[in-house]
Amino acid sequence: MSSFRELLAAAKSEIREVDTAGADEARKRPGAVVLDVREPDEYEQGAIPGAVHIPRGTLESSVENRIPDKAAPVVVHCASGVRSAFAAKTLSDLGYQDVASMTGGFNKWKDEGRDWSTPRKLTADQRNRYQRHLLLPEVGVDGQLALLDAKVLLLGAGGLGSPAALYLAAAGVGTIGIVDMDVVDDSNLQRQILHNVDRIGERKVDSAKKTLTALNPDVDVVTHDVRLGADNVMDILSGYDVVVDGADNFPVRYLLNDAALKLGITVVHGSIFRFEGQVTVFKPHDGPCYRCFLPEPPPAELAPSCAEAGVLGVLPGIVGSIQALEVIKLVLGIGDDLSGRLLAYDSLEQSFRSYKMRRDPQCPTCSIDPDQIVIAEYDEFCAPHPVQAPVG
Ligand SMILES: [Zn+2]
Repeated sequence: MSSFRELLAAAKSEIREVDTAGADEARKRPGAVVLDVREPDEYEQGAIPGAVHIPRGTLESSVENRIPDKAAPVVVHCASGVRSAFAAKTLSDLGYQDVASMTGGFNKWKDEGRDWSTPRKLTADQRNRYQRHLLLPEVGVDGQLALLDAKVLLLGAGGLGSPAALYLAAAGVGTIGIVDMDVVDDSNLQRQILHNVDRIGERKVDSAKKTLTALNPDVDVVTHDVRLGADNVMDILSGYDVVVDGADNFPVRYLLNDAALKLGITVVHGSIFRFEGQVTVFKPHDGPCYRCFLPEPPPAELAPSCAEAGVLGVLPGIVGSIQALEVIKLVLGIGDDLSGRLLAYDSLEQSFRSYKMRRDPQCPTCSIDPDQIVIAEYDEFCAPHPVQAPVG
């Protein structure tokens, strides 16, 4: 049987150690990762900025998700250099190729006046509320903080906007903007689950804000009770990270596409018609845009809005929820988003089909310099003749 000293000596003989100065140099190398293996209460009192925090006890189960590149240079540290020696040995056993343990640990680092800060953390209430997110290594505290920092704009507080807003608020997206200029009508309640009977006649944005704030007080709901037009689209979109398109007409979709391309904002597009729905993601200049997908609006008689066409209840809930999920993945930077793919859902068949979508090299909007994109308005009949609007 080995004593602790023998175990430590054995671990240290198999790993590489660096002093604090060497670690400070190493962390500036491209792709380098500082891994802090202390307990959460130690970490919360101060840490090396940008460090990945995985307590020693969960290292084996979490590290491959948090540091997927096994060739990345990793500097491991704890408080004094003992736990990090064992952690470095574990990392080598897991196949990490460039691992060093920092001697002296964070205590020496801090005593020497090197760069450190108090990490942002979740409140006790937030840890409780988002516990099921925190259990996922792909989300964790950092992912939840990213969601809380995210600013997402919803076009429409209707069929698609309702489920999207509810799930984004529940997931802790910190800022949710909503553009809608309608009032709640009782014919909306068949599918627009943000609203209810007591809100009939109320502004939709106000009704949405009440529902979302009651669900999650962490969320700042910003209301835009206006018609989105060429005169205001740039101002309204500026500052948002992602837009959820729940619009029900073509003029707004073209306007949104052009402004989002100009501003470099990703749009999560959704649409529904009768029993079918579609979702895709338009990432500016990194996949097709809405005009690559649909260069010209269809004739008005073939493109009835939701006000004229029927739509099965629940269907917008499914499509809007997929849009919300795409937003969350984009914010977290996980998984494969729907950029370049159209996901088509048929509720009668209960089938999902995915179609490849290609970028059009001749696209009038995404093939030109964003500065050259003219924000113009389409007329109410969806006629493919842009009506130039004043741009302030
Ligand atoms: Zn395009």
